Amino acid sequence: MAILEVRDLNLGFNCENGFKQALYDVSFSLERGKMFALVGESGCGKTMSAMSILNLLPKTAVIKSGQILYNGMDLLKYSNKEMQKIRGAKIALIPQDPMTSLNPLYTVGDQLLEVLKTHQGLEGKEAYKKAIEAFDMVQIPCADSRLKSYPHEFSGGMKQRAIIAMALACNAEILIADEPTTALDVTIQAQIMNLLREIKDNMNTAILLITHDLALVGENTDDVSVMYAGRIVESAPVQEFFQTPNHPYSVALLNALPSNKGDKLETIIGHPPTIQQEISGCKFHPRCKFCMDICKKDVPNMFAVGEKHFSACFLNK
Ligand code: SF4
Repeated sequence: MAILEVRDLNLGFNCENGFKQALYDVSFSLERGKMFALVGESGCGKTMSAMSILNLLPKTAVIKSGQILYNGMDLLKYSNKEMQKIRGAKIALIPQDPMTSLNPLYTVGDQLLEVLKTHQGLEGKEAYKKAIEAFDMVQIPCADSRLKSYPHEFSGGMKQRAIIAMALACNAEILIADEPTTALDVTIQAQIMNLLREIKDNMNTAILLITHDLALVGENTDDVSVMYAGRIVESAPVQEFFQTPNHPYSVALLNALPSNKGDKLETIIGHPPTIQQEISGCKFHPRCKFCMDICKKDVPNMFAVGEKHFSACFLNK
């Protein structure tokens, strides 16, 4: 059973020129011990979907409808106070830039101990032991002395490990990793992804990976959904997605991957629309080489193209 289920989420922003919708009927689920990827170009709505789960949306955002079920309970009905108990403790964010979560004025150890006090009620020797265990789990060497370091004394990869340690120390059931390796070099990127895979396998954690990088998805995740202009346009188990992608946008993304290029690397012509641009029908139609008349008028529903494989494209009608 899914530990978290986002159901038909519709969200938008109150702008000067009226309400502008940013997410359309977004649905996906996370399972224990699995890594699920939400993929798309920047501005497609993947981070907004993740921030909805944590109730960390900008003030101008409005959720029009939908549900976010965590262990069957709708988080959208939770107060800010109730969400504070869930955020960081049960559902933790691993951000693109770890410095957004670490305070440069306090040692990493002090920050980890504070998290343990707030979320686990642990203090003194018990908390310190747990902090050491958490650093060991994320393979930060010399945990005892490293806990006394300030964030600026850590490399980018070590800061990310420290953030992950804070989540593990609280026994977080869900990790939301928002482009967690974008700021890191390739070797460290692989180490952090290995660590996330080990956590999901050994601790049965559910992981939501937000990324624009399909190469990361292929190597690390179990299931994937592709977003375009605020909608999920394709969902599939990862192997099936890479072997038989269906939606023209997914195919274009895969053809733009260096490892799949063959002789020539394809690029996707044009840009995704902003939320201010109103596009009728399938929002990918101005960029789609298979565009038909119906695509300009109607929004395609999800069509089943495999047992667990769905694609929102009229080519499947
Ligand atoms: Fe292209 Fe039409 Fe499919 Fe949209 S619905 S991806 S425009 S073929």
